[in-house]
Amino acid sequence: MSECIFCRIIKGEIPCTKVYEDNNTFAFLDLNPVNKGHTLVVPKKHSETILDTDEKTLKDLMIATKKISKAIMNSLKIKGFNIGINQFEEGGQVVPHLHIHIMPRIKNDGIKLWPQRKYESKEEMEEIAKKIKSLL
Ligand code: AMP
Ligand code: ZN
Repeated sequence: MSECIFCRIIKGEIPCTKVYEDNNTFAFLDLNPVNKGHTLVVPKKHSETILDTDEKTLKDLMIATKKISKAIMNSLKIKGFNIGINQFEEGGQVVPHLHIHIMPRIKNDGIKLWPQRKYESKEEMEEIAKKIKSLL
């Protein structure tokens, strides 16, 4: 997967502003931050989404995300943040190498999260839950 941009960043072939690295995880500043300090946390081992990533890698990724989030909050005096993972093209994923966005939030920064809708009925809600549960 040498053509993958994030694999190339991890290998040092493309420059980045690195904030963290351990055996399995790498983190750098997003070039287009929602707020200053917006960081991407990526597994060193290439995978595209959480679905094709092994459990150990996911665990390490989340532990590193916690550590980095804490450092962002304390060093930048940030009081809140969002964590986001865009999954697949339909989910807004542009770079097909799994990455967690840590997005610092500032009061009244104007960032809107997803719109919220309503179910038609309690029955429809039950039906959706039934479908999901049938595969769990
Ligand atoms: P997405 O795949 O939509 O979750 O987001 C990809 C993110 O990667 C975007 O927020 C981009 O700004 C960021 N990005 C793409 N290329 C680079 C790069 N070379 N260095 C830092 N951030 C990048
Ligand atoms: Zn990759």
